[in-house]
Amino acid sequence: MLHRIDKTTVRNALQQAYECTRETNSGKNADYIPYLAKVPSELFGISACLPDGEVITVGDTDCAFGIESVSKVPTALLVMEQYGPQKVMNRIGADATGLPFNSIIAILLEKDHPSTPLVNAGAISACSMVKPVGDAEGKWKAIVDFIEGLAGSEVTLIDELYRSESATNFNNRSITWLLRNYNRIYDDPEMSLDLYTRQCSLGITARQLSILGATIAFGGRNPVTRKQIFRTELTPKIVSLMATVGFYEHTGDWLYTTGLPAKSGVGGGIVGVIPGVMGIASFAPPLDASGNSVKAQLALKFVMDRLNLNIFNPDRCITAVPESVA
Ligand code: GLU
Repeated sequence: MLHRIDKTTVRNALQQAYECTRETNSGKNADYIPYLAKVPSELFGISACLPDGEVITVGDTDCAFGIESVSKVPTALLVMEQYGPQKVMNRIGADATGLPFNSIIAILLEKDHPSTPLVNAGAISACSMVKPVGDAEGKWKAIVDFIEGLAGSEVTLIDELYRSESATNFNNRSITWLLRNYNRIYDDPEMSLDLYTRQCSLGITARQLSILGATIAFGGRNPVTRKQIFRTELTPKIVSLMATVGFYEHTGDWLYTTGLPAKSGVGGGIVGVIPGVMGIASFAPPLDASGNSVKAQLALKFVMDRLNLNIFNPDRCITAVPESVA
């Protein structure tokens, strides 16, 4: 049986999650991308977007940070929208590799597929598929427009992050050319790599991420702008990818512990999707050893437990339909 929760309960849970977690000081900013090492480590915010478009926030939810790997989610959705989910599965795949997100060995082992659009190989392959093929600026516009549609407002490139990543993305360049060797890059390889690097360097806020998550949770309809951004049948596809591989090699542990399909990024952001219930996001730069934000994980786990939202629990809570949200 499903139980309804009201907004006050959600607001209280976010506030308590924030208070219980804010003093945590373990973890370390990502430093393999020089810009990320310099982001103030104490930033921390939590945001939830409900079915009626109300966004409940606590902490630093209007501060733009590098979206990084979370950008893999919108681009995967975009190519599913452009080509249909079956073609994306045929060309890229939907399986976790069990290896690090930037693994080259994973490509050598699974040369018939980059494996999933939510690791670097599959994300670069997805960027190569984005239409209009052959038109770098047209593709970039399609990616940014799509993210803005999901998030309901403008996102901007963090130039310094883009320069920082472009100057250090040797591993991703190797991935790109290895994929080219296996005919898994569907446009110019260097252009596809550049698009991937640029999309990772977009600045987004926790508030925007929660709206992006909510648009996915509510079948492609942005609850704030009320615009339909993608076909409803793609929600289960993208949520299944997030559930399978959203937390790097610790995705199973995360799902087992929280029941929240989510995607994290080395910028410190995490977006979670609870289909039909809410989009939820948290941001705090210090990461654990597998690249997931320490505080954001604690905060989201707290909210999932406190509100009884685990998607696998038959006795879970749901938010009320828009008309009757308290
Ligand atoms: N731009 C980063 C990379 O490709 C993203 C990593 C991440 O957030 O997982 O290495």
